[in-house]
Amino acid sequence: MTQSTTSQILDGKQVSQQVVEGLSQELQAIHASGAVIPKLVVVLVGDDPASQVYVGKKAKMAQKIGMLSELLTFPADLSQGELLAVIHRLNTDASVHGILVQLPLPKHLDTLAVITAVDPKKDVDGLHPLNLGLLLTGDPLACKPCTPAGVITLLKAYDVPLAGKHAVVLGRSNIVGKPMGLLLLQENATVSYCHSKTPDLAAFTRQADILVAAVGVPKLVTAEFVKPGATVVDVGINRLDGKLVGDVDFESVVEQAGYITPVPGGVGPMTIATLMANTLALYKRSLRA
Ligand code: NAD
Repeated sequence: MTQSTTSQILDGKQVSQQVVEGLSQELQAIHASGAVIPKLVVVLVGDDPASQVYVGKKAKMAQKIGMLSELLTFPADLSQGELLAVIHRLNTDASVHGILVQLPLPKHLDTLAVITAVDPKKDVDGLHPLNLGLLLTGDPLACKPCTPAGVITLLKAYDVPLAGKHAVVLGRSNIVGKPMGLLLLQENATVSYCHSKTPDLAAFTRQADILVAAVGVPKLVTAEFVKPGATVVDVGINRLDGKLVGDVDFESVVEQAGYITPVPGGVGPMTIATLMANTLALYKRSLRA
């Protein structure tokens, strides 16, 4: 028989607001000092509707907190050479402190080559191989990928114990799954990765004290996947019957988990807040260089 518990919601909306308020105050001080204002440039290629929503939210938040932001949009048939030229121009523009290339890129573009072309010192998404290498070695100079770093901030805001706990990460993408596991490892969790080739997922996930789902499969994680009292973090953003749903079947898991993130209002706002924090951190670093 499964034990029923009352979940506490990990409220990403609320925690992200706290993060953003802190950043906003720092930006007010920067404005008052007459210093150069931090600037984030987001590059969007093509017309993927979800990407358009995400970049819009990012630009809006940057403006809200007093950061300069620019959205560069290009048609889906932009060539690799043209995109690399844009990135080169942004790399050499001293007024730009953060560059984010919105993923996924259209299929004909070489994503790794594009990410690698971004100056690691302006790589706000922490996806450049140099930043991922710094993350792997535990170097504090690593700019950490926004979504997994935001998850850690959220877990810490609720004092969710991580050290010595078993964290199971579903998904192994470079942008979420892999860095998520590395950041949990840095917090001294014991980390397991599961992915599309893992047989009997639930046998692994039921062992998790902390379960992070980042697979892009709507409602994959049901109550049978979850140990009673576990912390469940839902990174997934999927459209199902016109509604936004996560990778976790919230209604089924909420009875079982100790803590759970909602979708929307969980990891999404933390990603955007972390993007702002990363931009400000890179800006400050550029002043010291
Ligand atoms: P991805 O497609 O690059 O990677 C998905 C991963 O899940 C792969 O490693 C794959 O092995 C694994 N996987 C796929 N199907 C599986 C299955 N049935 N069982 C087990 N593992 C499976 O996706 P991604 O970029 O890592 O994003 C994952 C999800 O998170 C998506 O829904 C995406 O929209 C969402 N996302 C949300 C945010 C946010 O801010 N909340 C940010 C980035 C991505």
